[in-house]
Amino acid sequence: MPTLDAETVPVREQVPAVDGEPCVLIKLGEVVLKGKNREQFERRLADNVRLAVRPIARVDVIRRHGVFIVRTKDATAELVDRIAMRITDVMGIVWAHRAWRVGKDLASVERAALELMAGRTGSFAVRSRRRDKRFPMTSTELDRHIGGMINDAYGQPVRLKRPDHTLSIEVDRDEVFVFSGGLPGQGGLPVGMSGRGLVLMSGGIDSPVAAYRMMRRGLRVDFLHFSGMPFTGPESIYKAYALVRELDKFQGGSRLLVVPFGKAQQQIKTSGADKLAVIAQRRLMLRTGELVARRLKGATLITGDALGQVSSQTLTNITAQDDAVRMPILRPLIGMDKIEIMDQARRIKTLTISELPDEDCCSMLAPLGAETRAKLEDLHQIDKRLDVEELAEQLADSVQEHRPVYGDAG
Ligand code: ATP
Ligand code: MG
Repeated sequence: MPTLDAETVPVREQVPAVDGEPCVLIKLGEVVLKGKNREQFERRLADNVRLAVRPIARVDVIRRHGVFIVRTKDATAELVDRIAMRITDVMGIVWAHRAWRVGKDLASVERAALELMAGRTGSFAVRSRRRDKRFPMTSTELDRHIGGMINDAYGQPVRLKRPDHTLSIEVDRDEVFVFSGGLPGQGGLPVGMSGRGLVLMSGGIDSPVAAYRMMRRGLRVDFLHFSGMPFTGPESIYKAYALVRELDKFQGGSRLLVVPFGKAQQQIKTSGADKLAVIAQRRLMLRTGELVARRLKGATLITGDALGQVSSQTLTNITAQDDAVRMPILRPLIGMDKIEIMDQARRIKTLTISELPDEDCCSMLAPLGAETRAKLEDLHQIDKRLDVEELAEQLADSVQEHRPVYGDAG
């Protein structure tokens, strides 16, 4: 059996223990924000991080310029891994790095660098930066020194262009962070920074993605689902529940409101709406949504409409939806293809839930050949026959509230 090169074998044993602590170093998004907005961004984000990781550990979030440091007592590498993973769901974060936080002396940085690069193969590059310029070495000097040391110890080649590993060294005010690689975050703005909205949540693929995209822009959202009950089973409610529980990882404290909609649908059917039934029903959902949103102090409705995707989503029909309410309707998927929406649904882990079978309340109404150019006068006639304002009030009064929590079983 060939023996391994003596110089590359015993290195792991040579690595001295790191005299620092494992922590998570967070890079914030939208760093162009200035002044009061920035202060609000950082405060909100720090709160959201603490809340998200609370089931795992109590943490301190230390705010520095453009980065956060997340520390916890008795931090082990394993605990810090779990915290970092959880943090990647918190909106407003671009990167979560599992880092060694060490003293501001060269020996400490060297030990952490050796520990991090131990056992790796392939090329590497060291990238240093100083947020504290008082550190006695420049970034370039640090790169060269640490790079040379790793090369001496492990024989790994330095390659500055597209290395297999990047070792990052960030000199801060009180300490130095040493890390390699990181977990990408969601980007965007911290939830709660942009106000509150109500998502009309079917059991389908689109509305969960719409919710995600608005949360990512800093909106805190509640969810409203219309079930076909009592004429359908509760399956669509289970689906909506499971979807909201998954989406709850992005904001926490999510509320799902469910309206039994079957009887109202029957009224629409008997009102002679015919080909306009689907659009009349969507208008009634929006009206009900507006009332519910007001009660929850929400300022906007959100739907998963995409232009032209189905007959109820032609330009004329979307305009006819806006006509039913005074509140603005946000449609973050309006210009997206189904494939793009599905890709996103896969990434946020809602796709498999959405694809479960259920009896969508809308299938009850689906008329053969739905109207693609609904006329407003005709819709207003239907509204009158239905006494739609009264009906929407009744529906809004009938909501049942659920609190799906991310990570809960069931
Ligand atoms: P989705 O995949 O979100 O169900 P879709 O492509 O099936 O969307 P539609 O069924 O026309 O499209 O619904 C358009 C939008 O209307 C949905 O994205 C959602 O916001 C809202 N909506 C539809 N059905 C319901 C429902 N049962 N409860 C709440 N909102 C609904
Ligand atoms: Mg649908």
